[in-house]
Amino acid sequence: MNVDLVLAPNPGLFTGPGTNTWVITSRGESVIIDPGPVIESHLAAIRATASSAEVRAVLVTHTHPDHAPAANGLAEDLGVPAIGSAAGPGFRPDRLIADGEGVGFGGLEAVCVTTPGHTPDSVCFRVRDALFTGDHIMGGSTVVVEEMSDYLESLRKLHSTGLETLYPGHGPVIDTPDATIAGYLSHRLERESQILGAVGRGAGSVGAIVIEVYRDVDPVLHPMAAMSVAAHLEKLSIEGLVEVEAEPTWESEVRLR
Ligand SMILES: [Zn+2]
Repeated sequence: MNVDLVLAPNPGLFTGPGTNTWVITSRGESVIIDPGPVIESHLAAIRATASSAEVRAVLVTHTHPDHAPAANGLAEDLGVPAIGSAAGPGFRPDRLIADGEGVGFGGLEAVCVTTPGHTPDSVCFRVRDALFTGDHIMGGSTVVVEEMSDYLESLRKLHSTGLETLYPGHGPVIDTPDATIAGYLSHRLERESQILGAVGRGAGSVGAIVIEVYRDVDPVLHPMAAMSVAAHLEKLSIEGLVEVEAEPTWESEVRLR
């Protein structure tokens, strides 16, 4: 199995160096994961990278605009199906894929592992001991989480499953999967206790919590941090530890229960 990175030219606050498009090849057949936004030069680079093999499918980890929108057009050009777990803005799967289902290429299978949390529709694709993680696990930066309980469960689902390499949707390849996953879990639990501590000290709104807990983070990232804080608070609310309205926003009031 050969794995090639084609880095999309869309660097930024939310995308790091850009979106990682992965071309996995085995015995003259390939699958392409996350072709990214529609950028002609990037599509040409993907096609060039995949040109030595016969492409079998275009796979999508989730429907965010930096991952999915190029999938349908590229798949159509190549005469192969675009495959993902759900439709979303700019993406309409030709084939829906569920947990445990696979896409065959060159004697291997890219197996879907559902990992809701970053988004409800997030999946990873496993090929042997390698996992293509989309935004569930990122190289070198923290993930914005929509659904915290699901997210933690999706991390635990991957731990100790014999993974050797993680190929994230952004940033460098990770060759310490279990340690990285354990680090993600402890980071989230630490954030959770920081959030509870902030509320206990009188931070009475989502915004106040963000400003206290994410003091060391560039304020330009605070709106992103607020999404993760909101996800933590919804989890803590379900667990009966805090009171907060559903789908909390920056102004939402928070108190300990
Ligand atoms: Zn994303």
